[in-house]
Parts: sequence; C-alpha cells; structure tokens
Amino acid sequence: MIGYGYDIHRLQAGETLVLGGVTIPSEKGTVAHSDGDVVLHAICDALLGAAALGDIGKHFPDSDPQWKGQASSEFVRRVAAMLRERHIKVINVDSTVVLERPKLAPHISAMRTCIAEALGIERSHVSVKATTNEGLDAVGRGEAVAAHAVAQVDWQWRRGGVNE
Ligand code: MG
Repeated sequence: MIGYGYDIHRLQAGETLVLGGVTIPSEKGTVAHSDGDVVLHAICDALLGAAALGDIGKHFPDSDPQWKGQASSEFVRRVAAMLRERHIKVINVDSTVVLERPKLAPHISAMRTCIAEALGIERSHVSVKATTNEGLDAVGRGEAVAAHAVAQVDWQWRRGGVNE
C-alpha cells in the first residue's frame, strides 16, 4: 500500500523554521499551532493515508491545547506506533520540501536521521529532497513552505506475519 501527504504553512519573520525535525537557521519561520514542520506533517499524512487511518488533523487537532507548540516528531512517533499496533510495517518514505530560501542541502542528512529515528526504520529507507518554486506563487515569493510525501507500507497481518 502507498499513501500520500501534503502540507503548507505560512512563513513569517521572527518565527522558527523546523523541517524534518531539524531547526533551520532562517530569517523566516512557520506560523503554526504546533512547530509547523511541513515535512513531518506531510509524512504523517502519507503514513496515515497508507493505513487508511484518516489524517493528521483528525488525530492531532489544532483546536486541542495538548498539541500547542508540540514537536512534530512526536506526531510521527505516535503515527508509527498506531501502524505498529495494526501490524502495518513502514517500508520507506520519500518527501519533497518546497522552499525558496534558505538552501536546505546542508540539512537534508540530519532530517533523514531524525525521521528514521522517529519512525524506527533504516535511514536508507528515508528520503528528503528539496526544491524551490522558481519564484512562482506564495511559496516562490517566500511567503510559505510546502512539503509532499509518499510512504509505502506492508499490511503484514494479511499474511499472518508480525511487524517488528
Ligand atoms: Mg501542518
């Protein structure tokens, strides 16, 4: 099974920019109820989608004060646990973050490590890619950051297997 996720958050001067669990030095950061980590939010939705378990807003509503300022790696951990409980094994995740600046290349490795740890899977099964929006629309004007993610999972209970 595969799942897909997408997220976008506004950028504002003076806010913190966290992507893939890594704090990125930046003039602007995300405006959000949680830490606004679009990469991890997209990955959560991809995993929930692959398991047909709804979306991140259903499980971690921004109306719930429990999630205010929450590190999104905690959302990833909880989603991974939900899948494990159902004997659904995460095979791999791939993501693309769309941001005009700063350049993310120096931070990709740390993001992959953080995501792999939160999911409890091999780092080699976690991909993070970065691109700009070529100056087009709100992302291109530096007003927002977006991320896409896909995840592949294996529903092991179908074969009578156990996911661990
Ligand atoms: Mg979000």
